[in-house]
Parts: sequence; structure tokens; C-alpha cells
Amino acid sequence: MMQAYIEEAEKALLHTYNRYQVVLDKGEGVYLYDIEGKKYLDFVSGIAVFALGYKNQAYNDALKEQIDKVIHTSNYYYNVPTIEAAKKLKKVSGMDRVFFTNSGAEAIEGAIKAARKYAYLKDGSTDHEIIAMNHSFHGRTMGALSVTGNPKYREAFEPGIGNIRFADMNDFDSVLACVNDKTCAILFETVQGEGGIYPATQEFLEKVRALCDEKDILLILDEIQCGMGRTGYMYAWQKYGVKPDIMTTAKALGCGVPVGAFLMTEKVGAHSLVAGDHGTTYGGNPLAGAAINKVLDLFEENHIIEHVREVAPYLEQKLDELAAKHDYIQTRRGAGLMQGLVCKGPVSEIINRALEKGLILINAGTNIIRFVPPLVITRENIDDMVAILDTCF
Ligand SMILES: *Cc1c(COP(=O)(O)O)cnc(C)c1O
Repeated sequence: MMQAYIEEAEKALLHTYNRYQVVLDKGEGVYLYDIEGKKYLDFVSGIAVFALGYKNQAYNDALKEQIDKVIHTSNYYYNVPTIEAAKKLKKVSGMDRVFFTNSGAEAIEGAIKAARKYAYLKDGSTDHEIIAMNHSFHGRTMGALSVTGNPKYREAFEPGIGNIRFADMNDFDSVLACVNDKTCAILFETVQGEGGIYPATQEFLEKVRALCDEKDILLILDEIQCGMGRTGYMYAWQKYGVKPDIMTTAKALGCGVPVGAFLMTEKVGAHSLVAGDHGTTYGGNPLAGAAINKVLDLFEENHIIEHVREVAPYLEQKLDELAAKHDYIQTRRGAGLMQGLVCKGPVSEIINRALEKGLILINAGTNIIRFVPPLVITRENIDDMVAILDTCF
């Protein structure tokens, strides 16, 4: 049955993914089931999306209720779920202004536009530059791709938006070498995801912040993957005590309803995008608003962040033990429930073996096994995962 669907898929869908040979059907808690009824322990959560676990009844009910009221209106009108969502998002992020998008890439697009407009209003020139990082990932649209520090993703689609310079994450001197009078923003992921699970160092973030303050450059932090509680803080930068001027969020924000946002401080909000500068048909529609509302409520009610802080050290310990046991593993690195096992060679075969044994994992680059499970995983789930993975090396 599964094979027939896979063949149909490969006839109809544009082949932009080398997909795993499985057709998923439904989920419950931290488990997914394929259409033949096989059960999988999920340590990917749709790539850091389904933080609350599948078939969360309170979340599903909130969406159903909103569907029966109205799914979409337009951003030319106000709607209550989105007003509430913006208020709650401001509160948990400490930022002042919110723009809702449909995806992470669009949040990056908006952040770039806000930064360029901020600089434009200062000097009227149109040749401002943005500094991004090597090995970064910010999405697949042309703007987001242009700041993605991986030539493999970019090359065939050049030229990008232009005026982008690349520095090295956690190498402040390489950032300094890119700064000039035209620099309007410095952009990076607080914890690099696709690029290999690299957390920013405290020193790097502090130095970049100080540089930005000195030269009125905007610090943009991409929290699309590492945000929403994943590192044990609602947003990863909150651990560092270094606040961005603009930040992006998506993935777990809607827990499956496609939504993202870029947020900014009042300083940027008051001196950048105005009516007519930016828009979206769907972004922050009532259904998206209802999803964000419920997600943020459930984070609070279910003490999700406290849970991450409690369970993440156990995941680290178990992965460290695995790394000590298997020669093929070089090291572990990460933050909270965003971890990577860095291996000495490709990991695709290991991930395929795990899938056969009912465990869903994903890579980050060729050599790294990435762990971005639902935030509700338990110690028992971690034990089960490690027991399976142990047999895959
Ligand atoms: C996934 C991701 C994006 C892109 O988000 P999409 O919703 O896929 O457009 C951008 N930045 C980071 C850090 C991501 O992990």
C-alpha cells in the first residue's frame, strides 16, 4: 500500500526532496503512525514544529472552534484571535511590535525589509549591507536564500538580493572585517540549526550587540528553529541577556498551522515599515491567530519551558553516553532539546536504520544526527530512543 502511494507521489510532486520511504497518517503524543499502522517514536516533530505533541485535544478543539467561526478575513480588518496572539507574543518575547507571516522565510524577508527601511530613513541611500553568517540557514525565498551562508543552496539561483557579506559564527573579528558605513544589520540564528547545531557563544553575542549599539546597526536574531522554548527559554537569546532589535519566529509558533512572525523593538517599529510598505493576504489570519493563542496558553498551563529544563540535561547525558560508547560519534553539541550528534561520516544510513526500527530522526548537514523532539518528551521516551539508536551504529 505504502509503495503505491510513494510511486504516485513521485509522479505528481516536484522532486525537491529525497523523502524517507514512509507515508505518515496520524499522530498521538510523541508517536506517529504510517498508513499501514506502524508506530514511530518521533524525535523530529516535523522539524521543531509540533512542540506540544500530536493530537493535543485542547489545541485541536481551539482550532475546530475557530474554523466554525471564520478562518480568514483580511489584514484590512481587525480580528480578536490575532490581537490576542500579538499581545501574548509581545509578552513572552519582550519585543514591542509584531508582524505575522505564513512561514519562517517570510519572517526573514520582513526582517530584512524592516532593517533596510530603518537605514534608508536615516540617510536616504539604497546601498545598505547586511552581514550574515557562514553555515546559516534562513529559508528558500530569494531574500532569505541570499542571507543563507551555504553556497550549495544559493549558487544556481544567483544573483540574490545583493549587498550581503558573510562572516563566521562566533568569530567576532570576522564580523568586524565586514562592517563598514553601509552596514545596516547583522543577522544570525541564536543557535544555528541546519548548519550543524552551533549555539552562539556569550562573548560573541555580547560583542556583536555592543558593536551594533555603537554604530546603530540592527541586530536580527533568527529564532525560527531555536525559539519557542526549545532551549529552555522562550527565545534562546533570553538566556544570554542580549536582546535583538528584530527577531524572527515560526516553526513551533503555530504547532503545525503555517505561521511565523517578525518582531521588533519600539525603536525599529517607529522608524521603519509604515502602511503600504509590507503586507500579506494570509499572514496572521484568524485561524493562525487561534493556533498561536492556544499554543502560548498551553505553554504556560503545561509548564513547557520548565519541562524542557528538567528533561534536556537527561537527553544530553544519554547522548554523551552514546558518544562515549560508539567510535563513529565525534561529539555532542546543542542547547536544551535542540541537540546534534556529530559523527565521523555520513549519518543517512543510521537514520534509515532507525526509521526501520520505528524511530524518526533527521540530519543537520551530512554528518550530524539532529534531535528536535516534541517538547513534551519524557525520560522514558529518551531511554526508548537511545535504546533503538544504540543498535543503529
Ligand atoms: C526552518 C527555518 C527557516 C525557514 O522557515 P520556513 O518556514 O521553512 O520558511 C528559517 N530560519 C531557520 C533558522 C529555520 O530553521
